[in-house]
Amino acid sequence: MRQRKRVLLLAVLALAAGFAGSLYLPFPKSRLDPGPVLSLRITDRNGVLLREVLSDEGGRCRWVGLGEVSPHLIRATLLSEDRNFFLHKGVNVPSVFRALLQNLRHGRIISGASTISQQVVRNLGHRPRTLLSKLVEAWLAVRLEHTLSKEEILIQYLNRVPYGNLAYGAEAASRLYFEKPCSQLGPAEAAFLAGIPRSPSASNPYRDFPAALKRQKEILRSMARSGLLTAEEFHRTAAEDIRISSSADRFRAPHFCDLVLRSRKVSQRCRLSEVRTSLDYGLQKKIEGLLSEHLDSLTEKGVTNGSVIVLDNDRGDILALAGSRDFFDANHDGQVNGALALRQPGSALKPFTYALALERGMTAASVIDDAPNAFPTFEGNYDPQNYDRKFHGPIRMRSALACSYNVPAVAVLETIGPDLLYRRLKDLGFDSLQKPPGYYGLGLTLGNGEVSLLELAGAYAALARGGRYQRERTVIRMNGKDGMDVPISNPEGAVGVLSPAAAFIISHILSDRDARVPSFGYRSPLNLPFPCAAKTGTSKDYRDNWAIGYTARHTVGVWVGNFDGKPMHDVSGITGCGPLFRDIMLLLNAKDPPPQFAEPKGLLRRSICPLSGRLARASCPGRMDEIFISGTEPREVCWASHVAGVGPGLMTASVAGASSRRDPVLRIIFPQDGGIFKIDPVLRKEYQTIGLKADPSGVDGPGTIEWWINGRMAGTSAPPSGFSWKLAPGSYTIKAVSGTGVRRIESRPVRIIVMT
Ligand SMILES: [Zn+2]
Repeated sequence: MRQRKRVLLLAVLALAAGFAGSLYLPFPKSRLDPGPVLSLRITDRNGVLLREVLSDEGGRCRWVGLGEVSPHLIRATLLSEDRNFFLHKGVNVPSVFRALLQNLRHGRIISGASTISQQVVRNLGHRPRTLLSKLVEAWLAVRLEHTLSKEEILIQYLNRVPYGNLAYGAEAASRLYFEKPCSQLGPAEAAFLAGIPRSPSASNPYRDFPAALKRQKEILRSMARSGLLTAEEFHRTAAEDIRISSSADRFRAPHFCDLVLRSRKVSQRCRLSEVRTSLDYGLQKKIEGLLSEHLDSLTEKGVTNGSVIVLDNDRGDILALAGSRDFFDANHDGQVNGALALRQPGSALKPFTYALALERGMTAASVIDDAPNAFPTFEGNYDPQNYDRKFHGPIRMRSALACSYNVPAVAVLETIGPDLLYRRLKDLGFDSLQKPPGYYGLGLTLGNGEVSLLELAGAYAALARGGRYQRERTVIRMNGKDGMDVPISNPEGAVGVLSPAAAFIISHILSDRDARVPSFGYRSPLNLPFPCAAKTGTSKDYRDNWAIGYTARHTVGVWVGNFDGKPMHDVSGITGCGPLFRDIMLLLNAKDPPPQFAEPKGLLRRSICPLSGRLARASCPGRMDEIFISGTEPREVCWASHVAGVGPGLMTASVAGASSRRDPVLRIIFPQDGGIFKIDPVLRKEYQTIGLKADPSGVDGPGTIEWWINGRMAGTSAPPSGFSWKLAPGSYTIKAVSGTGVRRIESRPVRIIVMT
């Protein structure tokens, strides 16, 4: 028994001796080497400097000795970070116990209480997150103290500690914020710098200058209390104006540069000297200006932020990327990159649903029923609503997509299946759709999956490229210190995801300004003086608002909303993003309008009846040309009666044969067929009427005239008086009817559109 106790004691002693001995193991010197000094220049495609990152491992400038550091900075740093630096042996024992107690009480790491030696260890690559690694850090710090003198440790600290904005070490920080070497820092500037390392993100001077200034004042006060500053010096220093160099000049296109620095190509190559990116800084500046201007005009509607992406379709180059209105606006989370944030895209995915339908034999003239419908799903019936809370009856695909009706999009997706759409969206770069396809179901086409603006722009660029998807490119060229010069082409190249014919027809529909009139009116901001496909989207509850589109050359994506998810008031894709989208497109094409979309082989045109979608007869009203993928063109001639029957008459084939009677003599004189009316936003609603008038000269006796609108009798009139009808937005078929029974005579129908 006694024997065993002795063995145990010996073992414990041996362990303790081993641990004590281990504290004297020299700290590996190689890890303390300053290493080569490199700086990485990030430029735009024309060589304009966007950002200079000092050093390979992020931001160290020249290695400086203590003699090259302002004594004010040394004093302020010691006071701020480690008052007992010259007294302790690497670890401040009382404060470790204090921290330990706090940590145990809260069950996690709360209090730092790190000495300067511990911080050096941490900045050498040891990142403590748990209590154990915190102890390892302390152990390494003690070993460091046995290897280096106090002065040497301080030099390590001043050259390695992060000062925010990728500036590591006092020299880099001094040059970044004050544009001078750190030997020249005065007491006010020194106290300012010394306050940053404790929390480089919370006291980041570019994000929260007042917070950094507050910290500086604390340090100055404590310097005065410790006798490092006289009262007179303190007052003079505290009153000194701190001016840091403008962030706009040092951080051009900040979200874009962050994206480049995070990309694998750049982050893995540590000996790069220059990265030439795809960005066009001249364009970027103009886009940032436009974004800010348009957001000003949307402030009343509760919109605080927005993002814009411009892609060059040829290579998928990002030409401009504004992630937020102002990167340095901490009040509105300016550092959030809105181009990468995940949000519901609303209607913006509909074109891909229709492209798949075209590939599978539907045509732009296929008639889809926009009617109340419950789609069976695993979670019960799904009954989508349209944005205008109305149903529009049988409608051609061209109109359904251009007017962005929801029900037809869901009906079409039901026929092709959400799984296929999901797979194609993945092929089009929507990596963010992480859940299985069943999770989204039919709602996928109405935007229930969260995606980013960058992904949307990439997928739309594929439509512009005739269905070929290509990952976006941020880096054009990389140069190394050793003379390395690597041009970066897109390794994957463009991959065909959608059929060129289907992509072309979608582009044709999205650039068809007439087709979207019923929904968006004639004066839509999406109408541009050159071929431009465009689509808007609004997520549920007005949280997100999109406009995305393309010409043959560029793809532009715009998002506006709030980073905190607050809904906007009464903002749609047309009123929110539309005008900004328009201005960007005009800017991009100011000098030279873009060409037509390149038409692939295998398409043909047919004259169709706009109501039935079949080959037009002479009597079909408003015949129009439609484009078909060869083999899917209609072969049947329109059977709909455009004379007899009430309503559009599409689904009433049985009445068609009965239409060969003589021409009616009752004629509508006002309005005329194809008329378009606009509701005046100023005039009171009760005055917004038109007088429907008919000419009954061929009818026996004056009689009464019934007015049938969209299949319902709206009222009567006695000629020559008209019927005063109140306008409401929508499309209408109007008929006048006289007499009853066998003597009943109907006018030809007149179709009009009423816009808001
Ligand atoms: Zn017809």
